[in-house]
Amino acid sequence: MKQKTLLAAKNAWQEAEAILVGSGAGMGVDSGLPDFRGDSGFWKAYPPLKKLGVQFEEIADPHWFKKNPALAWGFYGHRFNLYRKTKPHEGFKILLEKNCEEKIPMFIFTSNVDGHFQKTGFQENQIMECHGSLMHFQCIEECGQPIWPIGPDLHLQINTDNLLAKEPLPSCPQCGSLARPNILMFSDFAWNSTRTYAQRQRFEKWIDKLNNKKLLIIELGAGTNIPTVRLTCEEVYQSTGNQFIRVNPRESKCELQNTLSLPMGAKDAIKVISQKY
Ligand SMILES: [Zn+2]
Repeated sequence: MKQKTLLAAKNAWQEAEAILVGSGAGMGVDSGLPDFRGDSGFWKAYPPLKKLGVQFEEIADPHWFKKNPALAWGFYGHRFNLYRKTKPHEGFKILLEKNCEEKIPMFIFTSNVDGHFQKTGFQENQIMECHGSLMHFQCIEECGQPIWPIGPDLHLQINTDNLLAKEPLPSCPQCGSLARPNILMFSDFAWNSTRTYAQRQRFEKWIDKLNNKKLLIIELGAGTNIPTVRLTCEEVYQSTGNQFIRVNPRESKCELQNTLSLPMGAKDAIKVISQKY
């Protein structure tokens, strides 16, 4: 990486009057969360699924909640427990300080479902979670119960040998049917999108109200497999952005003009960029 690029990124950070943070899987990996890319990464995190030969795309399919609720909740419950006990890395805190102490308006657009921006202290109304959140549940029978946030004392017991969750499994407070995470899964036609839709409206309003503020878009660890975060960041940059920094250890290249590519991890990039001279 050229020193010139790094310097330009630091300048962009200092000069920004508003910041859109686009966050993908790489942001969570830096907190120590597993990387699901490829079977080896996924199966390393879930040995019982390796034994069964079940890949990420297969287990992240809502039909398991009907076919084998204990296994579906074994997988999501394990992730839930992991997200809850993992501390977001210091890059999250640096972003929050920029927002709260330096009073730089900030919006988070993330594909991560771990709730780690909220955990850091960001407000609900400045976050859009495009794939939903594992910290929120919905009723599998779609009985009319709105999406609900998970209480602080939920802890799911998972048998680590076979990845089966123990009873009682989470249930709908209204009708008592099985609950499922409010995450957009693969082949998921029953995902309740109302919460994410409301977030999208707040996101659009935030963009509309920028009024010629110098907007920095900083994209952190967003992959090309499901490119929602990348595309959103590029779109905003093209319509209202002033500067664009793409941070990714492997795929930092950007075809758009006058963009900055930092081939490094999210946490390190935030630390370096935010360092005072
Ligand atoms: Zn229900």
